Amino acid sequence: MSNRPKRRRLPKPKGPRPKKREPGKPIEGEQECQIPSCKNFADKSLGGRAISRDSAGEVWSGLNVGKGRIRVCRTHYKEWKKERTDDHDRDYW
Ligand SMILES: [Zn+2]
Repeated sequence: MSNRPKRRRLPKPKGPRPKKREPGKPIEGEQECQIPSCKNFADKSLGGRAISRDSAGEVWSGLNVGKGRIRVCRTHYKEWKKERTDDHDRDYW
């Protein structure tokens, strides 16, 4: 597998669209991170990911493991990824 991350280009919306967030307003997400005690959003646009519930249970105890996927925020995804790839990473040194 290639290590080079591919940059995905998103099509730009047509027309002028000032991207300004209203001050004081938090980013509104729709998907909540499903790690207990986490209040971040797990929307794709915010860096969230869906990971399998099973593998999430290996990283965070206290999760209900089972079938399906859970959505996690960016922070938790990174954490999860790190946990999962720690062993492999050593092979690359
Ligand atoms: Zn989270």
